[in-house]
Amino acid sequence: MTGKDSRLDRDILFGGMPGQAPKLTSPGVTRAVLAQFGIHARKKYGQNFLTDRGIVTGIIDAAGITEDDCVLEIGPGIGTMTQYLSEAAGHVVCVEIDTNLRPVLDQTLAGYDNVDVIWQDILRTDLEELAEEYNEGRPLKVVANLPYYVTTPILLYLLEEKGCFESITVMVQKEVADRICAGAGSKEYGALSLAVQYYSDPEIVLKVPPACFMPRPAVESAVLHLQAYEKPPVDADEEVLFALIRASFNQRRKTLANGIANGFRCRNKTLSRADVETSLEAMGLSPSIRGEKLSLEQFAALSRTLAERGLV
Ligand code: SAM
Repeated sequence: MTGKDSRLDRDILFGGMPGQAPKLTSPGVTRAVLAQFGIHARKKYGQNFLTDRGIVTGIIDAAGITEDDCVLEIGPGIGTMTQYLSEAAGHVVCVEIDTNLRPVLDQTLAGYDNVDVIWQDILRTDLEELAEEYNEGRPLKVVANLPYYVTTPILLYLLEEKGCFESITVMVQKEVADRICAGAGSKEYGALSLAVQYYSDPEIVLKVPPACFMPRPAVESAVLHLQAYEKPPVDADEEVLFALIRASFNQRRKTLANGIANGFRCRNKTLSRADVETSLEAMGLSPSIRGEKLSLEQFAALSRTLAERGLV
């Protein structure tokens, strides 16, 4: 076989375009690349590499990526999804913490010319500056197979940077996806559901078994699509709203009034149990209701009632 034929053969097998490194979406190629560079998946960075082409393309389809988009990929790993993102998007900017992967990405992203990699912690990245530098200040689309040890901090860090993102499509632990999408009254419902639903409309778009990763994680996974709101769906003083939510779920077994009386702190103000109970009654709710029964709109209404009564 000539060099040209073997290149052709490799492209047919792994789907790379001429001049590009071959695709990584198979356990065999992933294993070979890891062995070539002597790389072992690092637990401390939550490294579980995707090896399933259907899942990778499913994530990119769910994110609705077109060539008009600039995508932020958090944690490109060895570049598996990055290769496909590069083909679908106008530009891809990746933020990766593990500099050991630099020589791997140099090879696996060869020929994928619209990709930039920034070597740093996403939680220390100025997202506004990133959108400015790579997308003229327009909102980015985030796509990632997130490291599970730090999923919630990353999601909240992104969501709190309002205006930087149009949507966030990410692989997370299925249990976290269920908590994020949960509605009032269910056992998964909590502060995380409310925080994410304040900023975005969440939906589980794919369920993913451990066999789609190398190494296999110990848990089931799911792909979550968060469509960011241009403005929050409820009318509330944000600081008061989140202080109420935090206090309510810190002591989940207590009534809402007790939880808030014990835990609410906002602009040096606290609230008594009676303040909360009379406010709940004014809203037509039971004074002994638990926080897990209140919808986002009802938490917002409580914050407005407390404000009208001069209590916050
Ligand atoms: N995208 C690759 C894939 O799907 O095969 C790798 C996904 S792996 C689950 C998570 C990736 O996030 C790893 O490459 C890891 O090094 C990286 N990572 C972990 N913590 C990070 C952080 N704080 N900031 C940026 N990247 C991080």
